[in-house]
Parts: sequence; C-alpha cells; structure tokens
Amino acid sequence: MVGQSRTPHYCLACDDGTVMELGVKDVTIVAKHVTRVVKDIAGWHCPKCGEIEFIDHDSSERAGRALEDAWIEARAGEGRDIRSQRKRLKLTQVEAGQLFGGGANAFSRYEKGKAHPPKSTALLLELLTRHPDLLREVQSIA
Ligand SMILES: [Zn+2]
Repeated sequence: MVGQSRTPHYCLACDDGTVMELGVKDVTIVAKHVTRVVKDIAGWHCPKCGEIEFIDHDSSERAGRALEDAWIEARAGEGRDIRSQRKRLKLTQVEAGQLFGGGANAFSRYEKGKAHPPKSTALLLELLTRHPDLLREVQSIA
C-alpha cells in the first residue's frame, strides 16, 4: 500500500529495538587482532553492532570463509607468541606442560594453534615473561 512502510527488521543481537538496514556493504570481520574486509555483502546490516542477516548464499559463504580464515590466522599468531614466551623461559614443551598443567602435549597443541591455553595459563606465562626471575619460585611451589 502506498505510504505504508515495510516491516522493520530488528537486530536480535542488540535486542533493544535497533532497526537493521537492507543493503550491500563492505564488512570488516574481526578475530582477535586479525581483521578482514569482505566486499559487497548483501543483507540486513545492524548499524549499531554490525550483525548481519544474510539474504543470499554467496554473501554468507564469503563472510563465513573470511571469518574462518581470520580465526586460523589469529590462532596461529597466538601459537607463535606462546612459543616465543616458552622459549624465553628456556622450557621445553614437556616441561611447560608439567609446570602450567595440561599435560605433556598441551604446549604442542597451543603452539600449533590447535587449542587455546586456559586464561590462567596465558596470564602466568605473560607474567613470567615479564618477570623471568619468578620462574624459579613458581617451579619450587608447583
Ligand atoms: Zn545489533
């Protein structure tokens, strides 16, 4: 009917009445510190949180693939960081697994980006990297 507006699309992620906009946009995908720009994504876009409701298969495929790639790269970067922290502390993967927990293969998995260390492990590793003199003390109470 003339003058009658289309039923608004509300963003389910915001869940506060934010109205989504229908259109084609370049979308930035973020996984930790890794970002990817995916061009010409068609769908309903939330102007507030960036949520997308896809309206075609091609856009959802390309955005999904970009997100997967970004996460693979982010995890690989995380693995490299863990490896360099462990090496700075002059621990083998097995020694690190025994000290921080998680078993003998834990650091192998973290460094290959196949698993995430628990937050407590990541924090302790970061703390010891900043204060390597504390390693002996941690080893004595472990
Ligand atoms: Zn939203």
